[in-house]
Amino acid sequence: MDHPNAPEVVKQARRMIDVADARHPGLVEICRTNPMRVADMWRDDVLIEFVDDGVNGSGRLGPDGVPATCHMETGDGRPVLRVFRYRAKSRTYFSLLHELGHYLQRTDPGLAVALLGQDAEAGIDFEERACDAFASRVLLPDALVSDVIERCGGVNAYAACTLAENSMASRSCVAKRLVDIMPNPGMIAVYGAWKGMFCVTTGGFPPYEPETPLARYYDRIHDYMDQRYLLWHARRAERFDLTPGDLPVDLRDGAPARMSMCFQRVGGRYQCFMVFEDGLRGTAG
Ligand SMILES: [Zn+2]
Repeated sequence: MDHPNAPEVVKQARRMIDVADARHPGLVEICRTNPMRVADMWRDDVLIEFVDDGVNGSGRLGPDGVPATCHMETGDGRPVLRVFRYRAKSRTYFSLLHELGHYLQRTDPGLAVALLGQDAEAGIDFEERACDAFASRVLLPDALVSDVIERCGGVNAYAACTLAENSMASRSCVAKRLVDIMPNPGMIAVYGAWKGMFCVTTGGFPPYEPETPLARYYDRIHDYMDQRYLLWHARRAERFDLTPGDLPVDLRDGAPARMSMCFQRVGGRYQCFMVFEDGLRGTAG
């Protein structure tokens, strides 16, 4: 099981949503508008402790050097979910749901059995991946994702922007989710995101080196992002769909691809989704 969203991981994540709904109905619904209400909804089951994110903002360790966790035993009998409070609220929501995912997998016999089916190392990895897949599917329900993709004519920048506008998920969460369902090899970039640019390819997160899959798209991203007139438009609109259809582009290795691009104003700044899909000429005509 190498892929983070192998079918068995996705299956576990969907079962986790069912288990959560059986205990407290409406998780997906409240997370469309205010995921922080999860803390109230589950207050009899778990003690949720919010901790400010560590100095380096990496999200791996809190200021006291302790990672975000789900501790199963505490004094008052409730497990403690230790959740980082990030500057970007969408990251806090994801962290909260990820930790709730651990709690569900450790307290529901059916979910726990799926963990036991993995060998020791893979079991931990499986549990973590299922928590991520669960958080992603609560914030971006399958039905919403398929509806938006259909309305936007496929996995493209407009679908990505529309999902970001209609959910509490972060743009990187949207990118990771969509890249998994791209029908061809490709890449999704979020420009202007946390730490500059976030990129994910259909093969996962390759490091940036001259001959990696990521590098094939990189030059094209900079070609477009260096165009000042694009930014001029982007700064004047709440949302700016650059290409009415997909644009044909040649990648660094000469291979054909198509690209879509969509700017969106987020808190006074703009962010941009770029979606590349290999092997197809543009359909814009
Ligand atoms: Zn975890």
